[in-house]
Amino acid sequence: MAYIERTYSVEALEGVRGERPRDRMKFYLSPSVAGYCARKLYLLLTGQAEDEADLRLRHIFRDGEIHEEAYAALLRAAGVEVLGEQVPADVAELPEVSPSEFVESGRCLICGEAVFENALHGHMDFLVVNPETARPEVIDHKAVSTAHFEKVLRNARDRARDELFRNVKPYLVQLGLYMVTLSGAGSLVLPDSGRVVFDDLDEVGGALIYKNKNNGAQMEVRFRYVRSEDRLELNEVAVRGADSGDPERVERIFLGYAIPGFHRKVSTRLARVREAAEGRLDARELPADSWQCAYCRVREACERVFLGAVYRSAREHSEIEPDEELRRLMAEDHRLAMEILRLENLREAVRERLRRACERLPEGGVYVAKVPEGRLILTVGRRTSRSVDLSRLPPEELEQVLELNREYGFIRETVSYYPVVRLVRENRGDSPRKSKRNTASLRLVRGATNPGS
Ligand code: SF4
Repeated sequence: MAYIERTYSVEALEGVRGERPRDRMKFYLSPSVAGYCARKLYLLLTGQAEDEADLRLRHIFRDGEIHEEAYAALLRAAGVEVLGEQVPADVAELPEVSPSEFVESGRCLICGEAVFENALHGHMDFLVVNPETARPEVIDHKAVSTAHFEKVLRNARDRARDELFRNVKPYLVQLGLYMVTLSGAGSLVLPDSGRVVFDDLDEVGGALIYKNKNNGAQMEVRFRYVRSEDRLELNEVAVRGADSGDPERVERIFLGYAIPGFHRKVSTRLARVREAAEGRLDARELPADSWQCAYCRVREACERVFLGAVYRSAREHSEIEPDEELRRLMAEDHRLAMEILRLENLREAVRERLRRACERLPEGGVYVAKVPEGRLILTVGRRTSRSVDLSRLPPEELEQVLELNREYGFIRETVSYYPVVRLVRENRGDSPRKSKRNTASLRLVRGATNPGS
């Protein structure tokens, strides 16, 4: 095996680090999964699906932890009092259950703390003292991909509120539940004081820090939870290092957002999942969060268990006994749909390779290749985008930025290719000999010099 594979590959590094307790944890209900689709929770709780993190995913988690560690260092350097990191927290799942009524049933493999029945056990990223209010508050840090970050920002810019809150729902529910805990409906384990219940806090603050781990851009969304009203609401948002368009517009879409009865709603939802898992409720009554289906890791099990009723409630279905022709047509339609899917996947892979092959061409344009069947016409669109939008800068600033860029090279340019291929059949009059002679030629029609020259 090559040295680099033995030494620096993710597999080799994971091997050195060894398995961690987190990797051995079985699925359990916790704040970090409480915002998942109810059907997914049911499938995982009943063992009909597994959501084990593979090596690639474990590496992504580890990556997130490193960003978190960096953030902790920043908080401390800025003088923020950090009461704890990865603070074990138990939130009462049902509002009327007080923490003292919890029953000890086992210990968490990550923190070693007792896990209680009827409680959601999790770990807050940071519990800090807010420097302005001098009150404790929760921070949850999420280091996400550029694609995810941009999607959230785009939805905020475009005021696509439903989309926006769907994107962040699991994170929002997780943070909200920690805020509920902090307000007294649960207990925390602090490094110095042991298990504590802050039952004198009616209003609790919390912040969701979204970091684009590729370029450091950050979005900070601040929340407030009012225990007496069981109300979670957003009260501030700030975007740094990314183009948020009109900041006031972004702020407005976030600011009108509130979830009245937050703890009760989450509890009721989870109670129904438990009921279904214990066979006291027909699992088909659990709603399908169809917006999560596209990237759901238990989709196969879901389609098997819920008979493909992924997009609608099973209550809308009618069982039928198809006659011979209907059965045959349904089966044929399904076979063709699967075949189209297989071909689409195949085509996507070919297009990806074609895009890379186009990088060898000198520039965008139209290229013609003779083949035995006729002529293949390849049209290549090419677009260059910059990480910094220079078009908005006044001329004097533009010159300064370009000067700095010559020295530090911080402006990244990305070239994208959009190839389209068509086949034009030769006239029937063409002799096979002539077609054969031209098989290998590639000719530029416009827009570029011949790549072969
Ligand atoms: S496939 Fe869709 S409905 Fe099924 S568990 Fe996943 S998200 Fe829920």
